[in-house]
Amino acid sequence: MTTLIESEEHKALRTAVAALGRRYGREYLTRTVAEGKPLAELWSDAGKLGYLGVNLPEEYGGGGGGITELSIVLEELGAAGSPLLMLVVSPAICGTVISRFGTEAQKHAWLPGLADGTRLMAFGITEPDAGSNSHRITTTARRDGADWLLTGRKVFISGVDMADAVLIVGRTEDARTGRLKPCLFIVPTDAEGFQKRPIDMELNAAEKQFELVLDDVRLPADALVGDEDAGLLQLFAGLNPERIMTAAFAIGMGRYALGRAVEYARDRTVWKTPIGAHQAIAHPLAQAHIDLELARLMMQKAARLYDAGDDIGAGEAANMAKYAAGEACVRAVDQAVHTLGGNGLTREFGLASLITAARVARIAPVSREMVLNYVSHQSLGLPKSY
Ligand SMILES: Cc1cc2nc3c(=O)[nH]c(=O)nc-3n(C[C@H](O)[C@H](O)[C@H](O)COP(=O)(O)OP(=O)(O)OC[C@H]3O[C@@H](n4cnc5c(N)ncnc54)[C@H](O)[C@@H]3O)c2cc1C
Repeated sequence: MTTLIESEEHKALRTAVAALGRRYGREYLTRTVAEGKPLAELWSDAGKLGYLGVNLPEEYGGGGGGITELSIVLEELGAAGSPLLMLVVSPAICGTVISRFGTEAQKHAWLPGLADGTRLMAFGITEPDAGSNSHRITTTARRDGADWLLTGRKVFISGVDMADAVLIVGRTEDARTGRLKPCLFIVPTDAEGFQKRPIDMELNAAEKQFELVLDDVRLPADALVGDEDAGLLQLFAGLNPERIMTAAFAIGMGRYALGRAVEYARDRTVWKTPIGAHQAIAHPLAQAHIDLELARLMMQKAARLYDAGDDIGAGEAANMAKYAAGEACVRAVDQAVHTLGGNGLTREFGLASLITAARVARIAPVSREMVLNYVSHQSLGLPKSY
């Protein structure tokens, strides 16, 4: 890659994070998942090295970079076989939203901890009856004196067991019109009335997903992040980084799977030459490599636009990057498993579990179909069916 695409600093960051990733790698992830633990050692080391908060403002302990840098961190850890999913949530969504819209007190309270990894924040928007259609969320905050009382349910919320708080997307009622407006609240995970239940997922990952019940959770006035009337703007300030980071997660996983397959195809010989010499094996691997590189280019474009403050331009590119990376990841993993023949399905080689894991990037945080809807309507101007 030339300096036109990535600066010397970015390349150096890539190399340094890759070295940390190699120190941990897939074996660490497999062992830690088997013990049912979070990736605490890697999280803590990445925090000490400044990688977790690389996108957060320097005055609050961050690295002063942007989503461009944070996506490099996640991609390289993933390519080494040990991605940190909570990077998508804690510094990318929550850190960004608090940096951009939080009060001084909220920034002081949260950003240094999110940056060095001593504190972690989850993010909750999805509800049982409002998955892809987040306009239907019903988690509602009502005023009680100076406090808020928050009630509702959330599903598939990642990493709540590791988190000090969850940034919850709820709604408040407009006093004048009675209409509901989206709002963001910092909800401590030890608050009274806050319940979490793990969801039994078929995912070989250290980060668990939870169903949340919020039953009149009492929150102080300053639990609200940003302006009550800002509507979707503040929310998308966090959702675009989430999409870009999910692309980084997918590209990292795809690269890891592809690397394992290429290594195997170079050696495994069942006729006269290694299987990698057969074009039926080599070409799909080459295609997977091309698709991952193309997805990365779109991810870099989205990250640049976002970091430059172009929220609208970043929106389209972040959706496209998430789509391209999710699809490239699913195909790379599928081809990697196939390349290993029977070994692709053994626990020893550890690739089969990536088949499920790769699907996450196709579904979350916005599904393949919802990206195609966005492009159909926003980019192409086609009419809506819903
Ligand atoms: C591992 C994992 C981690 C997650 N972590 C979080 C988290 O931390 N926080 C959080 O808030 N959420 C999280 N989610 C939730 C995730 O964002 C949702 O699963 C996602 O938005 C899809 O919603 P849904 O599952 O309700 O699917 P649904 O909305 O029910 O969609 C089901 C299917 O219907 C299709 N579909 C729906 N509407 C349309 C339409 N109009 N046109 C065409 N097709 C359509 C979808 O593409 C999909 O294939 C996570 C999910 C997973 C799997």
